[in-house]
Amino acid sequence: MAYKTPDYGFPIPDTPRRVISILGSTGSIGRQTLEVAKNLGIRVCALSANTNIRLLENQIREYKPSIAAVIDDDDARDLKERVRDLDVDIVPGPEGLIEAACADGAGIVVTAVAGTSGLLPTLAAIRLGRRIALANKETLVCAGELVMKSASEHGARIIPVDSEHSAVFQCLRNEKPESIKKLILTASGGPFRGMKREELAHVTPEMALRHPNWVMGKKVTVDSATMMNKGLEIIEAAHLFQVDPERINVVIHPESIIHSMVEFDDNSIKAQLSTPDMRLPIQYALTYPNRMESLASELDLTLLKSLTFLDPDREAFPCLDLAIKTASIRGTACAIMNAANEAAVELFLRGDLSFYGIFEAVSAALDNIAHIENPILEDILSADERAKLFVYERSRDN
Ligand code: MG
Repeated sequence: MAYKTPDYGFPIPDTPRRVISILGSTGSIGRQTLEVAKNLGIRVCALSANTNIRLLENQIREYKPSIAAVIDDDDARDLKERVRDLDVDIVPGPEGLIEAACADGAGIVVTAVAGTSGLLPTLAAIRLGRRIALANKETLVCAGELVMKSASEHGARIIPVDSEHSAVFQCLRNEKPESIKKLILTASGGPFRGMKREELAHVTPEMALRHPNWVMGKKVTVDSATMMNKGLEIIEAAHLFQVDPERINVVIHPESIIHSMVEFDDNSIKAQLSTPDMRLPIQYALTYPNRMESLASELDLTLLKSLTFLDPDREAFPCLDLAIKTASIRGTACAIMNAANEAAVELFLRGDLSFYGIFEAVSAALDNIAHIENPILEDILSADERAKLFVYERSRDN
């Protein structure tokens, strides 16, 4: 490839866009976002961490943000002491996370925190009209309608980082929404693909954390093992692309080369392919509408022996249908499911819940907690809290 392709006239990202804030910078997506930023020469003005203060300190020294948020007060004091030679504000607690999201000059906020803690800072950044590079699917799962409405009111663009949604987003460029027939989300099937119910009953957290294709945080890796992740992604996609959940299909694709597809009215299907490397969708969310050279390796099509597609095993992975069923209920049902799942995954990782215990806990939360039809933000936050409490208490009583 010796010649240079012509410039198609897309503008290069404007200056404020070239400054980013990263919520959850010590997690898997956060660390890869920093690699991408470094490679592209994008400045980082805010970072945040949950518990990994040592790594956050190193990141502060390397990337020199003006603000860094830490959840715990003691950690924040400790960190402040350690970086007192630097010009950086250390802000504690959930308010600190909101401050980091709203940091001066950030054109893009990368939300890579795990769980519902991403909701309030994302909403705060949306109100400022910032571009959201969304890696925290829980935000849309629990409060999709509110978040999308707020984004359209404030002119804030939400660009997905989740590989499937980035693929759909790329396939939809220059297409009319009304010509979409269905979205086809691919799923690797996780570490337990092909296993039956009896075998799955006794799998351990260690086994669940061994994902074959992707390196990810613990929460999403367990979600992949139960296939709840794909259920949450259906809900995420329904909000992002305004497509009914019934028109979103899931297909198991063990090679993780096609990241998702869109089928149109004429039965034409568009797909996005690449090596499985999260740095690619992260970069696209930062540089959109431009494409730039990336850190992901080239996909050698001749080395691919075959690409396979299978139906998911709905009996072995009941969380998938549970999520699909819940997706069609408006109101706080998805928030309850999402929160119960978050708590149940935590209990599973601690060894306090079995693999199918996750499904049972989430089902019980949905059966026992009344949901509200047209929730305001406070209703969603309270549903989230109640569902988590329900799962913790239920596990203590059993
Ligand atoms: Mg995904």
